[in-house]
Amino acid sequence: MDFTLDARTTELQEQLTAFMDEHVYPIEAAFQEQIDAAPDRWSPPPIIEPAKEAARSQGLWNLFLPGEDGAGLTNLQYAPLCEILGRSLHIAPVVTNCAAPDTGNMEVLNMFGTDEQKEQWLTPLLAGEIRSAFAMTEPRVASSDATNIETSIVRDGDEYVINGRKWYISGAMNPNAKVLILMGKTDPTADRHKQQSMILVPRDAPGVDVRRGMKVFGYDDRDHGGHAEIDFTDVRVPVSNLIGEEGSGFAIAQARLGPGRIHHCMRLIGIAERSLELMVERAASRVAFGKPLSEQGVIRDWIAESRVRIEQLRLLTFKAAWLMDTVGNKGAHTEIQAIKIAAPATVEWILDKAVQVHGAGGLSQDFPVAEWYAQVRTLRFADGPDEVHKNALARHEIRRMTAHV
Ligand SMILES: Cc1cc2nc3c(=O)[nH]c(=O)nc-3n(C[C@H](O)[C@H](O)[C@H](O)COP(=O)(O)OP(=O)(O)OC[C@H]3O[C@@H](n4cnc5c(N)ncnc54)[C@H](O)[C@@H]3O)c2cc1C
Repeated sequence: MDFTLDARTTELQEQLTAFMDEHVYPIEAAFQEQIDAAPDRWSPPPIIEPAKEAARSQGLWNLFLPGEDGAGLTNLQYAPLCEILGRSLHIAPVVTNCAAPDTGNMEVLNMFGTDEQKEQWLTPLLAGEIRSAFAMTEPRVASSDATNIETSIVRDGDEYVINGRKWYISGAMNPNAKVLILMGKTDPTADRHKQQSMILVPRDAPGVDVRRGMKVFGYDDRDHGGHAEIDFTDVRVPVSNLIGEEGSGFAIAQARLGPGRIHHCMRLIGIAERSLELMVERAASRVAFGKPLSEQGVIRDWIAESRVRIEQLRLLTFKAAWLMDTVGNKGAHTEIQAIKIAAPATVEWILDKAVQVHGAGGLSQDFPVAEWYAQVRTLRFADGPDEVHKNALARHEIRRMTAHV
């Protein structure tokens, strides 16, 4: 394993760092102010547009997407770049067209979409003209087991008719999220993993009712399009909106979640680095009991531990990325699950310490650490709860280690 960054990655890393200094960090405060003042709570603030233009003109665009439709980077090349984007979580990924859930949706359309679907939805998504959402989770069933999904997709002549309720659909409160990739059941009598299909549903289709934005620890997350609860009542879409074949939804979901999971982890490392910087800055600038907080042993322990944990996390992420590039997502199964389990827990630990070092300020709106803490905590559910990943990882290990018995 050689994790030396190649020339292209180093060049992009330098370019992206300069871009963050010039176009992203300076607009963070105004971004928040515009969101707080916006009459329409869910639209993206206009201040991101010039940054978006700058990113596009500098070629810092669609960096996540391999192949000729994107920047053509490997996972290992993208990892250190995605980490930089994570440092300003609600601005940098969006202005470079590298934000979830669009990235996963673009990958699905790129891999499984028909020419017609690509033209209608992938082209404007790649151009950053529209946003999208991914609708799988349902309030009425334990959705960490995707075979439980109840939303029905029933064929009626040249159309499919969709009925069901989804919630926590990230980004779908944003009116610019023009299309949803919805997972439902086309054949509830088929084999457990062949019942589900994915279908494209325009957000403005009759029968789509975006009911409310779900909160996360009290935050409505409007800075990244909220998390919608949506009713689908007799929603009709043409049969050509089906992605892949009937019954292929489960397999497509697995393909979608591989890169998506590792992208979350890469961004989390960026949050961890910035949290550590804030922790050190604050500890060095506050004096308690006659000396700076940074001279208290316990705080030094947190700083040292944070550095150790970030380095461990980055190496594991690089390894998972390298395996995805060299042996494919299936061969990287254990490492992808390991990083999905390790990253949120590790960064949550670091953020907990960053909050503590900031005192009451750490819980306030004046520093980003409280909100990051809430965000990071959700990643122990989103894209599958820790327990499900641990279960699958353990099953794999047990099978491997008992194969000879
Ligand atoms: C902020 C946020 C954003 C999200 N964005 C999206 C989105 O864009 N699109 C989307 O479709 N979904 C989204 N989700 C939903 C997320 O993917 C689900 O919450 C997750 O898959 C778990 O499903 P559930 O909530 O139904 O929990 P359940 O399936 O009811 O599980 C509850 C708990 O049971 C335990 N559990 C479950 N299975 C096992 C097991 N095998 N072993 C041991 N314990 C187990 C776990 O502790 C789990 O947390 C989002 C969630 C959050 C919080």
